[in-house]
Amino acid sequence: MKNQLQKKNIQPALVEACLILDKLQHAGFTAYIVGGAVRDTLVERNISDVDIATSARPEQVMSVFKRCIPTGLQHGTVTVLESGQSYEVTTYRAEDQYEDHRRPQSVNFVQHIYEDLQRRDFTMNAMALDRDFVLHDPFHGYSDLMNGHLRCVGRSDERFEEDALRMLRAVRFSTTYELTPVLSLWRAISKQASLLSFIAMERVSYEVTRMLQHSSFIRGVHLLKRTGLLLHTKEPLFLARSWQKINITQIVSLDTKLLTHIHTRWAAIFLVSNLSIEQTASDLRALKFSNEQRATIVGCLSIHESIMRVREEDEHVLQNYWLELLLSNPLSYLELWLYQLAPIFAQSVYKKLSTIHQSLHIHSIKELRIKGNDLMKWSGQPSGTWVKEQLAYIMKHVAIGELENDKVKIRIDFIKRFGVNNH
Ligand code: ATP
Ligand code: MG
Repeated sequence: MKNQLQKKNIQPALVEACLILDKLQHAGFTAYIVGGAVRDTLVERNISDVDIATSARPEQVMSVFKRCIPTGLQHGTVTVLESGQSYEVTTYRAEDQYEDHRRPQSVNFVQHIYEDLQRRDFTMNAMALDRDFVLHDPFHGYSDLMNGHLRCVGRSDERFEEDALRMLRAVRFSTTYELTPVLSLWRAISKQASLLSFIAMERVSYEVTRMLQHSSFIRGVHLLKRTGLLLHTKEPLFLARSWQKINITQIVSLDTKLLTHIHTRWAAIFLVSNLSIEQTASDLRALKFSNEQRATIVGCLSIHESIMRVREEDEHVLQNYWLELLLSNPLSYLELWLYQLAPIFAQSVYKKLSTIHQSLHIHSIKELRIKGNDLMKWSGQPSGTWVKEQLAYIMKHVAIGELENDKVKIRIDFIKRFGVNNH
């Protein structure tokens, strides 16, 4: 199907990319805009980066443009830097044999865009735009998109056999574009789910994270659960095993609007899946999360666990407890908990803690109008653990309004308690 796009749908990034197409064409090659930029233009989403496919070989691409980075020459990819933008320009290629259900054994450069589109995963990702914004859509990706269908280019079972990562991409794209996988694709995933064991855990966590970033990520969780895909990861996940047992309605009850941060979404998924902190940490390790990401997600869960144990009715005890938490954990975790996780899991304590939180004048030591250095100067004492203890004491008193957040007032109070610098 060929169709010229309406001008109103063409974003400036596409117009800018035409400069690259023109230069390649001028040098005697053919070139098209491909992949996500075409798909996102058609569904009127903002496009992020523009990928280009061309008949020019990598070395020919490098001779056409002054500034290039040889990003992935063996795959035919050159990054072209032009007018402050960067473009991945890849030679048309076909892939024959695949190794380990993931990588093509060899890449064959070809001359026609059709062959290049044919190797792509889904019909909606196998469309090309020429410099006049005419759509080249040999596999009817546009009508699939409009009808809400996700379909492989060619036979789904063969495409998943070649590259098992495509099964997870299918779940991700179904979620983020709200598409229904066609029956043959669905069946192929169910049949071949075990091939996921060939995929690096980093790729699994990348795809699932991309899926979780979308507002309707719950749909993705459903698809993952129903396909059983995560039961077959290279390293076993407690999460997937737990999904076999738990009632999915628990996951549905998550209010996605409240979970705005990706780390809280991950934390919430682990929570509703009834995983312990240890199991969560183990899954995050298997998924190759960085130490920092793991600490953030596990941090949300430990705060949650500790708050869920609070049965205290006494306002002062609760206030003290919350102040201690504020002092020992970065404020961002607590705010995540308070505003995103708590309303879902801890209705009763939520109201009280949220009122306390709002009534506090400050929420961290950083907000104090004095620094540790001031305390050392005022007391004449060298640095030591006492500085942190004093800062914590002052923070608590300023927070509850017993002391004003004013340098002079804090100094007077401090000297009264601690003694004066006699030097
Ligand atoms: P996004 O950047 O939003 O993830 P995208 O479609 O640009 O979406 P990329 O992973 O950047 O996705 O890949 C660019 C294009 O390369 C895809 O649109 C698709 O045509 C093709 N592609 C990517 N991965 C595969 C794969 N595993 N198998 C076949 N084709 C693929
Ligand atoms: Mg992309």
